[in-house]
Amino acid sequence: MGLIVQKFGGTSVANAERIMNVAGIVTDTYKKGNSVVVVVSAQGDTTDDLIEKAREINPKPSKREMDVLLSTGEQISIALLAMAIEKLGYPVKSLTGWQAGFVTDSTHGNSRIRRIDKERLTNELDKGNIVIVAGFQGINRYDDITTLGRGGSDTSAVAIAAVCHADLCQIYTDVDGIYTADPRLVPNAQKLDEVTFDEMLELSSLGAQVLHTRSVEMAKKYNVNLEVLSSLTKRPGTVVKEVADVEKMLIKGVAKDDKVMRLSIIGVQDIPGIAFRLFSALAARKINVDIILQSVGRDNTKDIAFTVGLDHRDEAIQALEELKVSMGAHEIVYDDNVTKVSIVGAGMATNPGVAAKMFEALSDAGINIQMIATSEIKISVLIRKEEGPRAVQAIHDAFQV
Ligand code: ASP
Ligand code: MG
Repeated sequence: MGLIVQKFGGTSVANAERIMNVAGIVTDTYKKGNSVVVVVSAQGDTTDDLIEKAREINPKPSKREMDVLLSTGEQISIALLAMAIEKLGYPVKSLTGWQAGFVTDSTHGNSRIRRIDKERLTNELDKGNIVIVAGFQGINRYDDITTLGRGGSDTSAVAIAAVCHADLCQIYTDVDGIYTADPRLVPNAQKLDEVTFDEMLELSSLGAQVLHTRSVEMAKKYNVNLEVLSSLTKRPGTVVKEVADVEKMLIKGVAKDDKVMRLSIIGVQDIPGIAFRLFSALAARKINVDIILQSVGRDNTKDIAFTVGLDHRDEAIQALEELKVSMGAHEIVYDDNVTKVSIVGAGMATNPGVAAKMFEALSDAGINIQMIATSEIKISVLIRKEEGPRAVQAIHDAFQV
């Protein structure tokens, strides 16, 4: 018995039958004597459809009005799920984000949660109600509706779990957990029983799109017990926690991120301050840089290459063009026909030879590595885009994860 937060994604509430299924899961948990807070996303493709509707009327709507529109998707879901639970005969109350006390900053479309005023929520729980909360939304200090960014309902759920000190936060989705690789690329990928928060953070930011990255950051910060599982099967899912059994498995997963590009500035002066000027210009434009490679200087010049997310393509090229002359560069080269393939595992920090094994697998597959980056628990390589799927399979086979 305890407090359990359950989050259901869009596919889990896509139609009436699925909603009744979710109502069954929720009331089963409640029947066992738990207090239950449920967070839901908009049904199926509702959010995409709403974006399309807006575009038909105004291709450049204000972000404020966009948030008013997009928040309606989750409001539909909470009412329908509450009705389903009423039908099963249990006490239930639905709350929008603002009724549930979500106060955010004012970055419309990508707001951060400032605090949750949880009185209303805890009052409803104290009255014995199952509480259904609309994910992805809040209100800023001017009482305007805000949204947390695409996929943000996960973060709503973890935030409630953190603030209410829930015993468990279950994220129900359409896959039954976190896999060692994307099962569409690697048919023999395995489901993981557990991963650490750090591994999950790397995996979600590397393109394993199961959890909203901010939800994992928050779960780590507040040590929320997190479990990812399917609403459509009754199998156990993947537990995300602080320390997992690192001895058991060296590598937890192989991830691929196609949304990257490589930029190189060729022949800049080989003097102090060049890297500083370059990367502060990118930082000023809020462009995140990932892998960085600087060549050894020769004839007083050097080359610097780095990767950025594809969504920053134009701004990054613009920044380099502006710096080119003053840095004495000959040329700017960019390539978006690249992909980043990474292995993640807390066990690699204490095991030598992991990088060698990964590079051997790529070499055997005849795949050329353009750039390499490492951290304590991750090794990433940049390769040609069309070789990505083959690289993931080859590396997965080599580690037999
Ligand atoms: N409905 C929102 C979206 O599609 C939020 C979410 O699903 O978490 O991005
Ligand atoms: Mg999601």
